[in-house]
Amino acid sequence: MPFVLALDEGTTSARAALYDDQGRRVAMESAPVECIYPHPGWVEQDANAIWSAQLAATRRTLESGRVKPSEIAAIGITNQRETTVVWDRLTGQPIAPAIVWQCRRTAAYCDALKPRELIERKTGLVIDAYFSASKIRWLIDHTDSRSADLSSGNLLFGNVDTWLIWKLTNGATHVTDPTNASRTMLMNLASGEWDHELLSIFGLRIEMMPKIVRSSGVCATCAPEHLGAAIPIAGIAGDQQAALFGQACFSPGLSKNTYGTGCFALMHAGASAPVSKHRLLSTRAASPDDSPQFAVEGSVFIAGAAIQWLRDQLKIISTAAETEALAASVPDTGGAYVVPAFVGLGAPYWDSNARGILSGITAGTDRARLVRATLESIAYQTGDLIAATEADSGHKLKELRVDGGAAANNFLMQFQADILGSPIVRPADIETTALGAAYLAGLATGVYQSLADVAKFWKAERVFEPQMGRDRREELLAGWKHAVARCRA
Ligand code: ADP
Repeated sequence: MPFVLALDEGTTSARAALYDDQGRRVAMESAPVECIYPHPGWVEQDANAIWSAQLAATRRTLESGRVKPSEIAAIGITNQRETTVVWDRLTGQPIAPAIVWQCRRTAAYCDALKPRELIERKTGLVIDAYFSASKIRWLIDHTDSRSADLSSGNLLFGNVDTWLIWKLTNGATHVTDPTNASRTMLMNLASGEWDHELLSIFGLRIEMMPKIVRSSGVCATCAPEHLGAAIPIAGIAGDQQAALFGQACFSPGLSKNTYGTGCFALMHAGASAPVSKHRLLSTRAASPDDSPQFAVEGSVFIAGAAIQWLRDQLKIISTAAETEALAASVPDTGGAYVVPAFVGLGAPYWDSNARGILSGITAGTDRARLVRATLESIAYQTGDLIAATEADSGHKLKELRVDGGAAANNFLMQFQADILGSPIVRPADIETTALGAAYLAGLATGVYQSLADVAKFWKAERVFEPQMGRDRREELLAGWKHAVARCRA
């Protein structure tokens, strides 16, 4: 029986999962990846540590699944997007730590960037430090030229997909796919190619850019020493587009939200590039063939990361999972709101200079209410994204498919349904990111026959119907809007 192996490199962990020919997960293992915070608002990671963690998790997955490397038909790769690695092609060494997508160090550079309208029109993005281009520029400008010869033409850029494929192929293959490339601010969204005008705005050379290949198609072969066999690499997609694919959102209007470190709501937008009127992003969706597919996306930078803050900084919880019972132990927050704008606010506000606040606190704001307010902030931020998506499309959302670590939280999912006034549908397998990468690789190699077959693998586990009255919803949303306004710069 052929298996498909998905490598899923997220912000907090590198995971690997094995799927059989019915799309059933037979093994999954993970290894943590450390984030480094050298200054307020800065986030970086060691690219070599990302590779080691990914390799360790993958080898353990093969062991726990008791699958021989020769039984694996294809590898699919999915990754935290925008995170920027620049390395020297001769030494194979990164010139500096990778700049993680959340990092705000290039905010001032982005504020001064011109011409804004042209960049936003060509890329479908909003000018922001989030995307890779300003991060590449920063790495080149701030690296000591003795440790990397910047003029040699030997520097290579990659997001984490590109870096992992380069490592898996021992430097033979330098590629990415349109979903990742569409987040660099250097790809022309409509044509799917690197754009010379954009490259020159950022002062970057096309020689350092990876070749853009299909999201579903064999693009390389893994060197046998890493996993025990020469396995084709046949799928690539950025984590959010992989999740959209893994949620079987293959046609316009179908939407998913992922609750991980951040939150990412994507709606499939069909075969032509959408233009958002409400500051959402237009981006590439993973396509099963070479016809372009698009999506509208809204991102929240701090979602599950706010739960990590409760655990690691405030130390008022010891596990993320205990927030569910704590939040449900009180009827409401007593008017308290947390706006976790730790690194500014993403869509639809795009305010780099906003910082988090606690508002409406009283002597009665105890641990449970603070935890509840933090969980609720995840739902409110998602609500802002969905409201923008609905305003853009002119349609009320029929249902929202959910995934990611925090989607396991039943309190959060019910509150989300209440705040949206739309059903929340949680699938049986919430590891949809890895699943999407597996589908893309399996479709390219004939393990899965067609999109219709893959769509049949998707099953709902639980539906959360809205229960809150409209007046209560509007009252809570008004309080949230007030809190957000107070944290804006
Ligand atoms: P990523 O892929 O971004 O690393 P995951 O999808 O693994 O993230 O989700 C992990 C995030 O979800 C963490 O930030 C964690 O705090 C949060 N999380 C995990 N389980 C729960 C839970 N039961 N309730 C609330 N948050 C949770």
